Amino acid sequence: MKTKKLIIVHTGEGKGKTTAALGMVMRTLAHGWHAAIVQFIKSAEDYKYGEAKLAEQMEQLDIFTMGDGFTWNNPDKEKNIRTALETWEKCKEVTLSGKYRLVVWDEINYAIHYGFLDEQLVLDFLQQSLDLHIVMTGRYAKPSIMEIADLVTEMTNVKHPYQAGIKAQKGVDW
Ligand code: ATP
Ligand code: MG
Repeated sequence: MKTKKLIIVHTGEGKGKTTAALGMVMRTLAHGWHAAIVQFIKSAEDYKYGEAKLAEQMEQLDIFTMGDGFTWNNPDKEKNIRTALETWEKCKEVTLSGKYRLVVWDEINYAIHYGFLDEQLVLDFLQQSLDLHIVMTGRYAKPSIMEIADLVTEMTNVKHPYQAGIKAQKGVDW
């Protein structure tokens, strides 16, 4: 058995895609390495996410929240595409920086699914040999992305409190 830097995909309708990525971030930091999270879709104005607060406190963790909020509700598709491209530029910069052992491209699958980001751009970038782990999260991951990944997990929604009218909660959801 050998080791290899991994392309990891967390997709599916159930909760836990971003949370599981954060678990890997936590492990990476605990071992003394640096990690970064680049966030599509999510905006710094949505919630004060726990992960963003942690990044303020930890020199080893960087977070770049680049989204415009829940942009699929935003009819301005041109703007969504511009924002996704800027976020993608940040993903590439962070990934190639040499600083990080693990990077999370959070909600990138959504951005591709909604047509804000071209999947071919991502596939082409992932062709090169990269010396770090990359975690791509979000529903509706493209088959082509899952095909080139080393590890793909699909979260299944069995039950979610939202369906019982319970709203997102600090510490659990944000
Ligand atoms: P988390 O960030 O909690 O790990 P996630 O990344 O799996 O969730 P997203 O699709 O990014 O899921 O959804 C973000 C928000 O939507 C979270 O607050 C999450 O709790 C909520 N959510 C996730 N799955 C469901 C679901 N099946 N029904 C309703 N809300 C959900
Ligand atoms: Mg998520």
